[in-house]
Amino acid sequence: MTLFRYNFAARMKKKKKITITVDGYSSCGKSTFAKAIAAELGYLYIDSGAMYRAVTLHCLRRGKVSGGMADNASVVRLLPEISITFMFNRETGFNETVLNGENVEREIRDRAVSDNVSAVSTIPEVRTKLVELQRELGAGGGIVMDGRDIGTVVFPGAELKIFMTATPEVRARRRYLELLGKGLPADYAAVEKNINDRDRIDSSREMSPLRKADDAVVLDNSEMTPAEQMVWFKQIFKQKINES
Ligand code: C5P
Repeated sequence: MTLFRYNFAARMKKKKKITITVDGYSSCGKSTFAKAIAAELGYLYIDSGAMYRAVTLHCLRRGKVSGGMADNASVVRLLPEISITFMFNRETGFNETVLNGENVEREIRDRAVSDNVSAVSTIPEVRTKLVELQRELGAGGGIVMDGRDIGTVVFPGAELKIFMTATPEVRARRRYLELLGKGLPADYAAVEKNINDRDRIDSSREMSPLRKADDAVVLDNSEMTPAEQMVWFKQIFKQKINES
């Protein structure tokens, strides 16, 4: 297995580094999948949702968002004081989100952030600021970025676009188990409602709604293990890299 992994990564490293986008519904395993493929290829992984979460955390702390409603004008006024960077965690091998110098990787996963992030993400000025940052981070290629509008808006010219989905029940269950696994408070009904609410808001907002890019390949992982998803990915990736 290790040898196979080495061979695949080594062969692919000799090829041109491309941009891979992973978009899709809430909690369908985008970040787990995106992290795994980035590690496999030696690419940089960027979680764009973490950026929207960090802005939301800042707004929550300043009292400009609550109950799933944002005071848009106040949020826009806060934007100049928000700086988002990433810090590499050697133990996990992945980047963690830093808000104004503070590592907030854990706080941005809290329920209060999840309940308010979609409202903040509808604000055009928030999107403009974060899309600019995302494009800077991905400028050199060799990146896997996951989110909602990465293949449609952030990198419309990406060589490989993946659109992920899974049934709502599977997604709610996975998210619920993930929270329990992290020792965070979890209520199944609340998790299910949050996923449905975010999907509805993310898909219906005016600016950059969640939708599949015309040239994206669909990965429905409702019935797939992580290992099966990796096999699927390697086939698609080989095809794309030979075309590009
Ligand atoms: O990916 P994650 O579930 O952490 O994203 C949190 C929220 O951030 C999404 O529900 C969505 O409202 C917003 N988001 C977005 N565009 C992205 C990534 C995330 O609007 N590219």
